[in-house]
Amino acid sequence: MEELSHWIDGKEVKGTSGRFSDVYNPATGEVIARVPLATPAELDAAVKSAEKAQIGWAATNPQRRARVMMKFGQLIQDNMEQLAELVAREHGKTLPDARGDVQRGLEVIEVCMGTPALLKGEYTDNAGPGIDLYSMRQPLGVVAGITPFNFPAMIPLWKMGPALASGNAMILKPSERVPSTSIMLAKLAQEAGLPDGVLQVVNGDKEIVDAILDHPTVQAVGFVGSTPIAQYIYGRAATNGKRAQCFGGAKNHMLIMPDADLDKAADALVGAGFGAAGERCMAISVAVPVGDKTADALIERLVPKIEKLKVGPYTAGEDVDYGPVITKAAQERINRLIGSGVDQGAKLVVDGRGLKIQGYENGFFCGPSLFDNVTPEMDIYKEEVFGPVLSTVRAKTYEDALRLVMDNDYGNGTAIYTADGDTARDFASRVNVGMVGINFPIPVPLSYYTFGGWKKSAFGDLNQYGPDAFRFYTKTKTVTARWFSGIKDGVALNFKAMD
Ligand code: NAD
Repeated sequence: MEELSHWIDGKEVKGTSGRFSDVYNPATGEVIARVPLATPAELDAAVKSAEKAQIGWAATNPQRRARVMMKFGQLIQDNMEQLAELVAREHGKTLPDARGDVQRGLEVIEVCMGTPALLKGEYTDNAGPGIDLYSMRQPLGVVAGITPFNFPAMIPLWKMGPALASGNAMILKPSERVPSTSIMLAKLAQEAGLPDGVLQVVNGDKEIVDAILDHPTVQAVGFVGSTPIAQYIYGRAATNGKRAQCFGGAKNHMLIMPDADLDKAADALVGAGFGAAGERCMAISVAVPVGDKTADALIERLVPKIEKLKVGPYTAGEDVDYGPVITKAAQERINRLIGSGVDQGAKLVVDGRGLKIQGYENGFFCGPSLFDNVTPEMDIYKEEVFGPVLSTVRAKTYEDALRLVMDNDYGNGTAIYTADGDTARDFASRVNVGMVGINFPIPVPLSYYTFGGWKKSAFGDLNQYGPDAFRFYTKTKTVTARWFSGIKDGVALNFKAMD
């Protein structure tokens, strides 16, 4: 069986801990590789060498760093198919979706080509007699990125792009379920001219995450994953004096108003609810039709579309709609939550449990499921299912629907389908959620905006990618400079305005 490596100092390095985690092909259920789980001592060696490499990288002018990003982007583009294949093999998503995973990461690298402009400081001349005032943005040093399984290319690229372009060195700890894409990205970054040691990929589990959080040299942690872990990491990083931004789970609602184009709304719900087997933090998992008439008409349209979905392995062709979920444990958890929905009184309109794909009987597949008459007290509503399950919560009025979204613990994304501009505008203005779609189901902002949820979907300041990420990965230094021509001698003891 293939034994994977870490990426340290510009080369693949075997693990020395003797501890491994199995990597599966979720479509077959087979173990295809094992990934080493690093020890704190291995991390320490990687951090020490990153610390050394960062000094030269930070001194490299931003335009040169931008050129490395430009070449890196080109290499990602050139190797799109190979990267997508790696993503699909370890994650299970379809090839078109895997290409999208790489593409949305690449778009962040494209913005990093603008690093010189994004890192410009401010300047005030004549702030006082002979005094000029200026600020500059400087890298933090060695920073860490800790990423989830569900976007094996995109999220590591969201982390490494702005961090590296700003002049930091990064310790990337990818999900142990999908480690290979990060190693390939590190190789491409090296080919693009990134100096060895500036990006280290250290594989591992909780033990290594804790070692990162406690390491005195690591200055900042960018985390993406589930809410309990995000909250834990935020707390421990902050206690240790580190900058941290930790993005967590989600429960994304879509409101469907009586005046909405219901065919378009149903198409959007099927795509946003079941794409990538529902394993997207921006997946729509709750449909909120307003009024029973809207709800009945919506369900009537959803059922045939959902029943037509083709579930299968990525190797079965580009017409497969979605693949397996990530692990057997995830499959069992999703089935258990569907069972709880039935037991607690929701109406299971389409039952996806028990799906078997011929030739892939051991794969972690879940058929699509649709619930009607879900209520907020049910587990299927309260928990993040992270699977191909769409729940319908019927609302009597727009205000009731809005209140449901506002009262939910999560605040990652939400959407409204309506033909009425005033309602859409009111929703976008009042809802306490970070990313809002108007007749747009998955409102992931483009790479020159920023991505981030509210409430329990994100802990810490500033969003991921875009200008916010450049702020997160740099610190501001402000210089007050005086030159003495024309300035009288004299001692000043008071703290006074500059005049
Ligand atoms: P996860 O929280 O299980 O793992 C994320 C990372 O944390 C991995 O690298 C993992 O090794 C590490 N980890 C796991 N358990 C840990 C522990 N006890 N202590 C320290 N580190 C630990 O998440 P996942 O299952 O890989 O990803 C799915 C979750 O990520 C979902 O909840 C999804 O909503 C969320 N997600 C959020 C966003 C966002 O931007 N808000 C984006 C993608 C995914």
